[in-house]
Amino acid sequence: MNREAQGRKGLVFSIQRYSTEDGPGIRTTVFMKGCPLRCLWCHNPEGQEFFPQIAFNDSRCIGCKGCVDACPQGAIKFTEDGSRTDGGKCQNCGKCAEVCPTGARELVGKYMTAEEVFSEVERDTLFYRSSGGGVTVGGGEPTMQPRFLVEFLRKCHEQGIHTALDTSGYAEWKEMEEILKHVDLVLYDIKQIDLVKHAEYTGVSNELILENARRISSKGIPMIIRVPVIPGYTDGEDSVRSILEFACILKSVAKVELLPFHRLGEPKYRKLGRSYAFERAQPPTDVCMQKLKQLVESFGLQAKVMSK
Ligand code: SF4
Ligand code: SF4
Repeated sequence: MNREAQGRKGLVFSIQRYSTEDGPGIRTTVFMKGCPLRCLWCHNPEGQEFFPQIAFNDSRCIGCKGCVDACPQGAIKFTEDGSRTDGGKCQNCGKCAEVCPTGARELVGKYMTAEEVFSEVERDTLFYRSSGGGVTVGGGEPTMQPRFLVEFLRKCHEQGIHTALDTSGYAEWKEMEEILKHVDLVLYDIKQIDLVKHAEYTGVSNELILENARRISSKGIPMIIRVPVIPGYTDGEDSVRSILEFACILKSVAKVELLPFHRLGEPKYRKLGRSYAFERAQPPTDVCMQKLKQLVESFGLQAKVMSK
C-alpha cells in the first residue's frame, strides 16, 4: 500500500513513553516511518523506508520453522547458519511475524489512525501536566505524513497537550506550514552547513532545510537546534561553529542540543539485514563534548549535551 492509499492513517514504528530527551518535561515520542534523508550515521534505520519491514533477531530464534510454513513467498530458508530471508522474494507481509512464538521476527511499522495514536498518548496526560512535558513526533521524518500529523497534533492541542516536532526540516513549506499551526516547539536538526558535505553525508542538499529554518524562526515558533556530533564528520569545531553562526540569525532559537554519536543503532541494522558503516567508530569523548558545549555558550546560546 503506498502512502497516498493510506489516506489519513500514519505509519508509526514506535511510541515511546516517559521520554526525557525529546523536548521539555516527560513526553511521549511518536516515531513516524519514512525519511527522504539517508544520513550515514542514522541510528534509526528502521525509520527510513516508507513501508512496514520485517526485522529478524537471530538470538531469539528457536528454530521451530513456523515462519517457513507461514511464508507465502517461500522467502525463508534454513541453512547451517540458521534462518535466512531472501530479500528479493520477501514482500514484508508480516505473516512470519504473526506465527513466530518468540518475537524473533517482527513487523516494524504499523498503520494507525490519529485517534488510535492519540488514545495511546493521552494516557500520560497527568505526567505531561505535572512535568511541563507533552508529545513529540519524530522519526524518520514525520512531515512526510502531513495529513496524519495535522490531525494528530490538532487532537493533542484540543486536549491542551504541548506538542513538539522533531524534524530534519526537509519538507515542502506548504505542508510544513500547515503542520506548524499545531506545534509549540520545533526540534530542528542541522547536521552541516557546507552544501557539498551535507549532500555527501545525508544524500540531500541542505538548501531547503536552511530556508525552512529561517521561515519557522520568522514565525516566532520556539526552536531548539540539534546538532549530531559524529566523529570524523560533524565533530569539528569549524563545522559546529558554522551551524552556530547560522543559529544566531534565527530569532526564535534559544538553545542548542549536542547529540553525541552512539552505537545503539548497530543491532537494528543487523536485524534489517543491512551492514553498519560505523562499526569501528567510537562516541566522542566527554572532553570533546564539553568543548563544543562551551563553544555554543560563547555564542550566547544555551547548550545541552544529550546522553549517549
Ligand atoms: S514478511 Fe511475508 S514474505 Fe517476508 S519472509 Fe515474512 S512471511 Fe515471507
Ligand atoms: S517462527 Fe520465529 S522462532 Fe520459529 S524458526 Fe521462525 S524466526 Fe525462529
